[in-house]
Amino acid sequence: MLSRHLSGRPALRHLSRRGLTLAGLLLASAMALPGLAQAQSGDLNLYSSRHYDTDEALYTNFTKKTGIKINRLEAREDELLQRMKAEGDKSPADVLITVDAGRLWRAQEMDLLQPTKSAALEKAIPAHLREPDGYWFGFSKRARVFVVNKTKVKPGDIARYEDLADPKWKSKVVIRSSTNVYNQSLAGAMLATLGEAGAEAWARGVVANLARAPKGGDTDQIKAVAAGEGDIAVSNTYYFARLLASSKPEDKAVVANLAVIFPNQNDRGTHVNVSGAGVAKYSPNKANAVKFLEYLASKEAQEYFAKGNYEFPVVGGVALHPVIQSWAEFKEDALNVAVFGRNNAEALKIMDRAGWK
Ligand code: FE
Repeated sequence: MLSRHLSGRPALRHLSRRGLTLAGLLLASAMALPGLAQAQSGDLNLYSSRHYDTDEALYTNFTKKTGIKINRLEAREDELLQRMKAEGDKSPADVLITVDAGRLWRAQEMDLLQPTKSAALEKAIPAHLREPDGYWFGFSKRARVFVVNKTKVKPGDIARYEDLADPKWKSKVVIRSSTNVYNQSLAGAMLATLGEAGAEAWARGVVANLARAPKGGDTDQIKAVAAGEGDIAVSNTYYFARLLASSKPEDKAVVANLAVIFPNQNDRGTHVNVSGAGVAKYSPNKANAVKFLEYLASKEAQEYFAKGNYEFPVVGGVALHPVIQSWAEFKEDALNVAVFGRNNAEALKIMDRAGWK
């Protein structure tokens, strides 16, 4: 299913399936460029780190509606940025789709994107979920929540991100490394809320409460709680949703004693991040690129886009995946997602000083 639109390029398809190394990418770049360049006029060249089943329908539907063919290149998030950088003004990329506002910000900082002015996008997407100058737009939301052992943590025991630093949770918290952009964005939001001294005190408190040195991804934190290594995991919603949706007995066993808590429901709301997209700086088909972004904000596209990864749509009136239906009403923090990027460097320094590995 991956990179179907680049089929006829078995070598590249094979590389994408395994996840490209940077060296592999540059090699693939040399192989793929002529093909993508040929396909430039009238097409849409999409650089994407997404690879979900529902995306097929998403793209087919766009082509059906507009007659614009999509040439897709899929690779891991940071590798896509490196590739665009290496291609420079010769890049065939029209649109970059990737996850986390921190990474979209990074693409903007690397001068890989250009601003888009679109009344349709501004109307459809809430202001806090898009970059203020139009460099990129959030098209689905994920919340960073607590997944807790419900036999040990009762409703109301822990209600805020701030509580992760409370000494009563000593040796109970599992969270991934500070090298992960999701945590960098969360720390960037804490910095915006608490200020530098407050954010550093918070980070120190979190580190003091760790049940183990950070390792693995969000799913590994959830599994650690299921295995009794800690009581509170910090995870993006879709990782827990994937386990809830799974029919595998081992996944059912993992979720049996777990519950989700949306932090800060009685004050500023839960930290949300986005999957998003922007128009590439040297887009050869800019009009098509803008059309594609506007399509992504349409109700029908939103359903495919969000459902592919158990995420929340950014526009109202769109059905959620049944697995996350019961989470629909949570209160989200209205802090602009671009702040996570702007605060990224400072947040990293703070986490570093706090000893967050
Ligand atoms: Fe993820």
